[in-house]
Amino acid sequence: MKKKLVSDVDLRDKRVLLRVDFNVPLSNGIVADDTRIRAALPTIDYLVNQEAALIIISHLGRPKGMVKPEFSLEPVVKHLSTLTDVPVKFVSSTVGDEAEAQVKALKKGEILVLENLRFDPREKQNDREFAAVMASYADVYVNDAFGVSHRAHASVAALPELMGEDAVAGFLLEKEINYASKVLDNPARPFTAILGGKKVSDKIKVIEALLDQVDNLVIGGGMANTFLKASGYQVGISFVEEDKLSLAAALMEKAQKKDVGLYLPVDVVTAKAFSENAEPHYYSIDAIPANEMILDIGPATCEYFATVLKGSKLVVWNGPMGVFEMKPFSDGTRTLAAYLSVCDADIVVGGGDSAAAVTQFGYAQEMSHISTGGGAFLELMEGKELPGLTVLADGVEK
Ligand code: ADP
Ligand code: MG
Repeated sequence: MKKKLVSDVDLRDKRVLLRVDFNVPLSNGIVADDTRIRAALPTIDYLVNQEAALIIISHLGRPKGMVKPEFSLEPVVKHLSTLTDVPVKFVSSTVGDEAEAQVKALKKGEILVLENLRFDPREKQNDREFAAVMASYADVYVNDAFGVSHRAHASVAALPELMGEDAVAGFLLEKEINYASKVLDNPARPFTAILGGKKVSDKIKVIEALLDQVDNLVIGGGMANTFLKASGYQVGISFVEEDKLSLAAALMEKAQKKDVGLYLPVDVVTAKAFSENAEPHYYSIDAIPANEMILDIGPATCEYFATVLKGSKLVVWNGPMGVFEMKPFSDGTRTLAAYLSVCDADIVVGGGDSAAAVTQFGYAQEMSHISTGGGAFLELMEGKELPGLTVLADGVEK
């Protein structure tokens, strides 16, 4: 999976097109969370220091192929200006006369941000002509947008394909690729995967792929309900995927055959309603009342899971252990994050909600890596090829 890097290219007097993921939340026209912008700064700063003329492209939200001012990248440009010493210019189009004129006028060491790629329907259609116009802007293409690298969109797939050997990976992408290969290629052992989140159906392929790799599989969150029921426990009115019960049973059998340690909750936090205001109750899994639903793993389960983590050298975590957005049902996820934060193993966290939970509970700094891609991370874990990565030039072994 080794890719040619931005640092492998001579950038002097080059025009560089940088694809980033500036898909940030906005609130009243102001950037509400700049994590994604900051994540791209190492590559941006590097390119500016190398005196490249830097053209930045990104999408923002889902404008559905139409120009919608509320999805303009202008607020992001204003914010980026505060994070870098160089003036950041903005043009309110991606292709066309004005964009081309501004691109031509751009000098080395300067930054120009083009308008939201998804204002043009051809972006999502992976349109070659749209990509060709952008390809004409630059000598080098850099992908630093891991979060969209699983999408075959024009700026991610067709464009780098046109750039050939001049399509390289940025530093953020490099980090994502390095951690993915730590997990996929030659994992340190014991290797433990922790999976949670609401549904088994969202993660079937991930579970199957990880079962071939890991020594231990820890299952929490709503998806554990289906495994518990398939194991013969009564789970009351918990969310269960009835059509996945036999699959869950088959996965447990597969784990046993492969000698993978499978860990399910031994106690749970339940409530009578799916509500922040519902009163939390604590039960062992063999005593769940018929009128209650499981909303979190219990304290004994946290201890039990911690013993597995203690012996591990590598841990991959995807999916919260409970409804962490509701205070009474957030302890399982918070406690697990706390255990991981003091664990000696390499800890790789992926998934939009999991990353949000770790950050919200204040443990982000303690993790080895928090992936910036939700869907892209899961597809990598499934062993899929990502169109945006496959297309980049191959790296040179050093
Ligand atoms: P990620 O985005 O990290 O991949 P998911 O999207 O798969 O994670 O799952 C996150 C969601 O799962 C959260 O919204 C959380 O509230 C929900 N969830 C976790 N446990 C339960 C449960 N026991 N019942 C219902 N929802 C749950
Ligand atoms: Mg999610």
